[in-house]
Amino acid sequence: MKARPFQFIDVPRRMPRELPAKVRVLGWQEIHAGFDADGAAEQGARCLDCGNPYCEWKCPVHNPIPDWLALVREGRLFEAAELAHSTNPLPEVCGRVCPQDRLCEGDCTLHTGFEAVTIGSIEKYIVDEAFRQGWRPDLSAVRASGRRVAIIGAGPAGLACADRLARAGIEAHVFDRHAQVGGLLSYGIPAFKLEKSVMDVRRQVLEGMGVRFHLGVDVDAALGAELLRDHDALFLGTGATTPVDAGLPGQALAGVLSALPFLVANARRQRGEKYEGDVAFALAGRRVLVLGGGDTAMDCVRSAVRLGAAQVTCAYRRGEADMPGSAREVKYARAEGVQFLFHRQPVAIEGNGAVTGVRLAATRAGSGRAGSLELVPGSEETIAADVVIQSFGFRASPAPWWQGIGIELDPRGHVATRGPAGATSHPKVFAGGDNVRGADLVVTAVFDGREAGNAIARQLLQMGSENINV
Ligand code: SF4
Repeated sequence: MKARPFQFIDVPRRMPRELPAKVRVLGWQEIHAGFDADGAAEQGARCLDCGNPYCEWKCPVHNPIPDWLALVREGRLFEAAELAHSTNPLPEVCGRVCPQDRLCEGDCTLHTGFEAVTIGSIEKYIVDEAFRQGWRPDLSAVRASGRRVAIIGAGPAGLACADRLARAGIEAHVFDRHAQVGGLLSYGIPAFKLEKSVMDVRRQVLEGMGVRFHLGVDVDAALGAELLRDHDALFLGTGATTPVDAGLPGQALAGVLSALPFLVANARRQRGEKYEGDVAFALAGRRVLVLGGGDTAMDCVRSAVRLGAAQVTCAYRRGEADMPGSAREVKYARAEGVQFLFHRQPVAIEGNGAVTGVRLAATRAGSGRAGSLELVPGSEETIAADVVIQSFGFRASPAPWWQGIGIELDPRGHVATRGPAGATSHPKVFAGGDNVRGADLVVTAVFDGREAGNAIARQLLQMGSENINV
């Protein structure tokens, strides 16, 4: 397709076809189809090539967005896929799950006045279609270095690290307790945002690059010591999975769930794996109340709708504009029938053996520091619920044995790193993603894994062997 200057004036922003809410809640498939070549080229051609690509700077992995949009417009798909992978080891994942409205698209020059280019959907198109047509990363010039690195955690940080190591000729061995790769990409994010076949394809691609997966393996102190001894370096990418405990009275009542175990159990159920917590699937016809306002809370409310809940409500202590997740997810949830209660803080979960409701108090701006909240006296009311899902965020969950090998933690309990490449207090150990940052975005974990992989490769390929087994 030929470039036409100012095409954005005549061609409106268009997303790929969206399943109507009434239809999509009947299943778990992704709610957007993909672009075809013409659709991607047309939308890519809306890029103004403004010369100062704020989108690129706002993107946490600094994708060369205008460059791959131009390649898509010219039909040079494989070159676009190559370029997309130069900065992003998991572009098809980020194209699906990034909150683009807060990142690249939110900073697109066209965002004010003409609506942003559909960057995420085009990124997804590039890689899905290139894979479908048989494109694979070309490692034919890579020579094996004889180095080996163990990666604990097959989530976004671990996979991104493995990708960079494989490209440097370093054998990457990825260990994960789950039966499939992806970590929360496979077991946390529901299929209506990221279909699990996407991770199956990515696994095949990485295996084709020489990455070795050791799945269903819990790395304990003994195995950790072995990995450290037998590998030239170790990368810790285990995420943040410890729920923040709000300490609400009544949270031990039957029917009170924690967001992540609920989502994991549902993903396991869909994959035909063993799962715990039958109540998670006894939602049909029940009143479900989700406490919290982030993207994980949105994953819970939208999952509850698909599990047949009669009524799904989300209570959040601040206003809609203050929600920490993507506004797009809130819009989708609302279209799927979710009710929202803003400026409401839970003060107790009520019930007798099993939950019957949650006492909520109204909030307003506090008189203390900026952003503080206070409860409005006399505003408490009970909202009836049969199932309550708590989604107050997650903290890093470092394994107890890490400190035994000299890995320092910061005061929040996250792995303490030195510099952006994830070096830790142990010279052979690197870390990145949520176990360093606390719960954050998939794309920031990808960035950390990429940077750590590059740093490990530099360290191993420049050192003499006598320096490596520290
Ligand atoms: Fe946008 Fe995320 Fe892709 Fe970056 S990685 S271009 S922020 S969708």
